[in-house]
Amino acid sequence: MMNGVLAEYSTLMTRAQYVKQPISPLIARQCLRMDGVLRKGYLKGTPLYPECCRPGTTVAGSCGHQSHRRFPQVYTEARKQLLVAKPDVVRAVDKLGEQVVTCLLDNFWMRLKDSGSHAASNPLGISLWDLLLACELADPTAHDETFDIPDKTLHAVHLICDRFGIVDKQACTDQIEMARGLCHGPHKVITGDQQELSKSNLLAFFCRVYGENYGADNGANTEHGMAQWKELPIYAQFVKAVFSIMISSAVVEALFNKYIFTKNLFRSSMLDRTAASILSTQELEDLIGNVKKPFVAFFELRSVALTDKLNWT
Ligand SMILES: [Zn+2]
Repeated sequence: MMNGVLAEYSTLMTRAQYVKQPISPLIARQCLRMDGVLRKGYLKGTPLYPECCRPGTTVAGSCGHQSHRRFPQVYTEARKQLLVAKPDVVRAVDKLGEQVVTCLLDNFWMRLKDSGSHAASNPLGISLWDLLLACELADPTAHDETFDIPDKTLHAVHLICDRFGIVDKQACTDQIEMARGLCHGPHKVITGDQQELSKSNLLAFFCRVYGENYGADNGANTEHGMAQWKELPIYAQFVKAVFSIMISSAVVEALFNKYIFTKNLFRSSMLDRTAASILSTQELEDLIGNVKKPFVAFFELRSVALTDKLNWT
């Protein structure tokens, strides 16, 4: 039972630390994914017990329950064997699973959504989660054209703009929306290939739609990329900024510390290191290149960054 819970958590942590290509726009979704998988596997529906439905029957509703819990495979087998001989043990382990997962998710979201105690440096109360949602906007396929950016996410976008010298914030949010319109809705121009590329490697996707050498002063880019994307130069800057945010290790640090120091020993110092201060690091520069440089800088990366493919679900 615990293996299943920890496996999901460790999948998220492993993904958050992925360094072969920029993944900061993907982490918000990965957090939601873990939340969904754990809820579905350990909290949703009623566990099936011998007195609930006839042994061997799993037809939902025959006992009046709305739905039966679909435990993860790793626990299902052991549980099935024990269910007849020791239903009380099974009941207790099911309960424990609920408690562990409830506690883990509560803590997880509390950490991510905590805006810290530094009102002076973080007057808008931006949390790591707000920042992750802002980063997600650097994936133009993440939301459809009807999506409204929540206020706090918008504040986090502005924080990124401030940090990375994007002066026209309104243009930045406008172009975030326009970029989304290139991927969804009546004016979409994204091709199936590009869509696929965006799922496996956002960096490679942007290099394709903006073209190689995009942003270079010498006009080397004129023959490459698509005009519709190149009309969104501030969006390109925003994407480069997001790609260079050291968000993933911040997530790992924030969450791991919570579990290592269960007595909140490091809590206050961690809280002060939330969203605002994370943006003051630019340690990824050696991986990504300087965000003020054109996309060409990305080619200075280990060459794997452009050919790497993700298959995360
Ligand atoms: Zn039932």
